[in-house]
Amino acid sequence: MPDVVETPKREKIHKTDAEWRELLTPEQFHVMRQKGTERAFTGALLDNHADGVYRCGACAAPLFTSDKKFESGSGWPSFWLPVSSDAIVAVEDNSHGMRRVEVECATCGAHLGHVFPDGPRPTGLRYCINSASLAFEGK
Ligand SMILES: [Zn+2]
Repeated sequence: MPDVVETPKREKIHKTDAEWRELLTPEQFHVMRQKGTERAFTGALLDNHADGVYRCGACAAPLFTSDKKFESGSGWPSFWLPVSSDAIVAVEDNSHGMRRVEVECATCGAHLGHVFPDGPRPTGLRYCINSASLAFEGK
């Protein structure tokens, strides 16, 4: 296991939409700040199999590691466990006529994707995450 998974307690990051627009690409802004979803099978990190850490694309907090990534067939990068339980927050999402659980970066509140209860063992969870919300850092 890479030792980078240790997440130091860090300050929450709060920025205005105008500040985020300066830092993010239009697609990143749409996904992370407006809870958008990239089209399935289009994300840059879907087929990334390199070893490393997936950080928040907005604030660089470590969120997932490559050893917990799996092929879900969903069309989005999928993980069965985040780096730590306090790296992300889960929020009930009843939009679009569905009951889902949204996941956000705990540090900056960026929308990441959703978590579903149909993942592999041992957690049985599938964190379905937009590539646009992630920044990959190879080992
Ligand atoms: Zn973040």
